[in-house]
Amino acid sequence: MTTCAAYSPPGLSARVQGGNREAPATLLAGASQLNSFTLLNTLFTLPTYILDPISDPISDPISHFSKTDDGRVLFGIPWHGRLLIGTTDVPREKAELEPRALEEEIEFLVHHSNKYLTKNLERKDVLSVFAGLRPLVAAGESRETKKLSRNHRIVVSKAGLVTIVGGKWTTYRRMAEQTVDRAVRVAKLDAQPCPTKHMPLHGYLDVDVTKDIPETVYGTDWSEIQKLADTDTELAQKIHPNLPYTFAEIVWSIRQEQARTLDDVLARRTRSLLLDARAAIEIAPRIAALLAKELGCDAAWAQKQTEDFIALAQRYLA
Ligand SMILES: Cc1cc2nc3c(=O)[nH]c(=O)nc-3n(C[C@H](O)[C@H](O)[C@H](O)COP(=O)(O)OP(=O)(O)OC[C@H]3O[C@@H](n4cnc5c(N)ncnc54)[C@H](O)[C@@H]3O)c2cc1C
Repeated sequence: MTTCAAYSPPGLSARVQGGNREAPATLLAGASQLNSFTLLNTLFTLPTYILDPISDPISDPISHFSKTDDGRVLFGIPWHGRLLIGTTDVPREKAELEPRALEEEIEFLVHHSNKYLTKNLERKDVLSVFAGLRPLVAAGESRETKKLSRNHRIVVSKAGLVTIVGGKWTTYRRMAEQTVDRAVRVAKLDAQPCPTKHMPLHGYLDVDVTKDIPETVYGTDWSEIQKLADTDTELAQKIHPNLPYTFAEIVWSIRQEQARTLDDVLARRTRSLLLDARAAIEIAPRIAALLAKELGCDAAWAQKQTEDFIALAQRYLA
């Protein structure tokens, strides 16, 4: 929805749905990952994933399948009733906004996973294929991705822009702490004790996070989504027989989670595109019409959203 377009101290210019907004700021810290790569000597790795409609019930939450012929690790993780199969470490020199899985990587995953699955997986069974670019801050080290550090790095530009790049999910809190500490020093802000370490996030609910239930995604918001479904039987319906979401979740994402485009709804607020690309394509026109109704846009806008989304989603078909 919002894209930071330019930084010139002491402020920020941002594009918000076509219009420009200016925001004065004492200091800016950037954490946009791929868009920060030009600041550093960065190499990328391209992990690729495919979704198997689960041929075997897997009890172990993470099953590392094993090493492959070329020594890479192949892993399988049960995910929303499917099996997410992935591998890592194909080096890429350049960043792309919509990285595409390489043909040989898809073949590699299908071939190697069949050594471990009891039911043969064929290309036509694969529900979705996707790849992501992970920045590895190389800075003159080896270009061999396996050897490159996954650690984050914080840099401060001459203009005073603080940027964090790289890192791991598992160290997100330390990454944030160090970025804020650096920003405080750069802008000579008045440092205060950090109050957030034990502060519950919005929607906090004490629930077993290993269970595949909506509460683990929405927390306390789930009861609000159910209220929407209770007031309108159409909203209580599933958006597609092969997807685990209801129309109430779509409406919620538009009204409460700032979804503004079809791929906001089908790729990010829900994971429809990743869970089943064909199903996401089939439901696209109906969701675009709902989005247009909620946002007060016309049929031509909905048509364009549908076309753009389908063009993107084609890339997720195996
Ligand atoms: C494919 C892949 C696999 C990974 N696997 C693992 C793993 O197995 N284990 C692990 O620990 N870590 C893994 N990571 C790393 C982990 O995802 C990152 O360390 C973590 O997401 C970094 O968090 P972040 O908030 O810094 O950046 P991100 O989560 O990347 O968030 C950056 C945000 O900035 C936004 N943005 C970008 N440009 C702009 C702009 N111009 N204006 C406004 N917003 C902008 C983006 O939309 C995004 O929301 C993986 C990363 C990738 C890409």
